[in-house]
Amino acid sequence: MTRSEARPRVVIAGLGDSGLLTAIHLARHAEVVGISSKPALVSGQELGMRLSRPDVWARDYWISFDRYRQLDEVRTVHGTLTGVDLVTRTVGVELADGTTTSEPYDVLVISTGVTNGFWRRPHLQSAAEVAQDLDGAHARLAHAHSIAVLGGGAAAVSTAANLALTWPTKQINLYYPGERGLPHHHGRTWRAVAQRLTDRGVGLHPGHRAVVPEGFTCNRITDTPVEWSTGQDPVSADAVVWAIGRVQANTSWLPTELLDDDGFVRVEADLRVPGHSGVFAVGDVAATDPLRSSARNRADKLLARNIRAHLTGGPLKGYRPPGRRWGSVLGVQPNGLEVFSASGRILRFPAWSIGRVLQPWIVRRGIYRGVRPEG
Ligand SMILES: Cc1cc2nc3c(=O)[nH]c(=O)nc-3n(C[C@H](O)[C@H](O)[C@H](O)COP(=O)(O)OP(=O)(O)OC[C@H]3O[C@@H](n4cnc5c(N)ncnc54)[C@H](O)[C@@H]3O)c2cc1C
Repeated sequence: MTRSEARPRVVIAGLGDSGLLTAIHLARHAEVVGISSKPALVSGQELGMRLSRPDVWARDYWISFDRYRQLDEVRTVHGTLTGVDLVTRTVGVELADGTTTSEPYDVLVISTGVTNGFWRRPHLQSAAEVAQDLDGAHARLAHAHSIAVLGGGAAAVSTAANLALTWPTKQINLYYPGERGLPHHHGRTWRAVAQRLTDRGVGLHPGHRAVVPEGFTCNRITDTPVEWSTGQDPVSADAVVWAIGRVQANTSWLPTELLDDDGFVRVEADLRVPGHSGVFAVGDVAATDPLRSSARNRADKLLARNIRAHLTGGPLKGYRPPGRRWGSVLGVQPNGLEVFSASGRILRFPAWSIGRVLQPWIVRRGIYRGVRPEG
């Protein structure tokens, strides 16, 4: 069979939260190849739970590709994308064994996400190295008596709250630059979360903007005093978690003509990369809107639909982002899960429903269309 008679070939560059779901939606409609520097979904979500209860986090957020039923037809390649040739329509990959290969595509999905702090990095890792990272960060914090968490976004706030839940006797302080945390969420969301933090004894310190030491990329937990550009005295803690939202797009493998001034992939409303037919982007790497919110708003479904329309000559639809952040901030807590809407309203899943309804039926069956049990 020649390539033109074969099913269209979709290469998904980056199998994180958005790439994986896009692959799942397209598996039955195209020949799908997913390329990932990790041997599994290693989600960037729920940092607080990941640091404080890594075993619980891993159960739901670190899942090997062979457990997803809909990926049975998808070929996954464990390697690092090194470049794209937009004329011959191929991507270059350095495989885990150090050899190189190239993968041709009819459609390319760019979903390589962002680098954020020490917990979301794009380098090639084996399962053992992922485990080492998880255990190392947890052990580092377990041994600290005092912990300073820097940042006001969901990652920082959830870290402070979950560390305080797991280790109520540690001294935990949260420092953020604004008057309030969660500046992109509704005020009601912050008020509810601030109450949980205060109830758990977390010290809240608004108006503190940390000075990032020269050359430091926030890629590890530190223990040197933190200085403030806002004028306060330096602060010392046994462990300092930098979650200041300094994200960097994982786009060094792409030509600059695809990128905006901040290094994110330029997209039209329908997630096409302008000027390059058959190239799309989704997730945190895609410059869809100021909050780059297409991952959390599940634009993977729209993208899969648009790719099918592109292949059959149908009309494409646009992504419409909400103006505010929404979602779970603290993750699953002993009394269940709270999901905050864009207007700050709370949808509560009681604790009993997490293991019996939310995970098996809504997440594993509904969102991922079948996940095999571990082992
Ligand atoms: C179902 C779902 C629920 C969500 N719920 C919430 C919520 O409640 N609250 C909230 O704030 N957010 C939520 N989010 C969004 C989430 O916070 C992030 O936005 C999301 O994890 C970003 O996904 P991504 O695919 O863009 O990036 P990532 O998940 O980081 O995936 C990128 C992948 O590409 C790999 N990669 C990078 N560079 C290369 C390379 N050169 N070669 C090979 N591989 C590479 C990376 O290692 C990684 O595996 C949710 C997302 C989903 C899908």
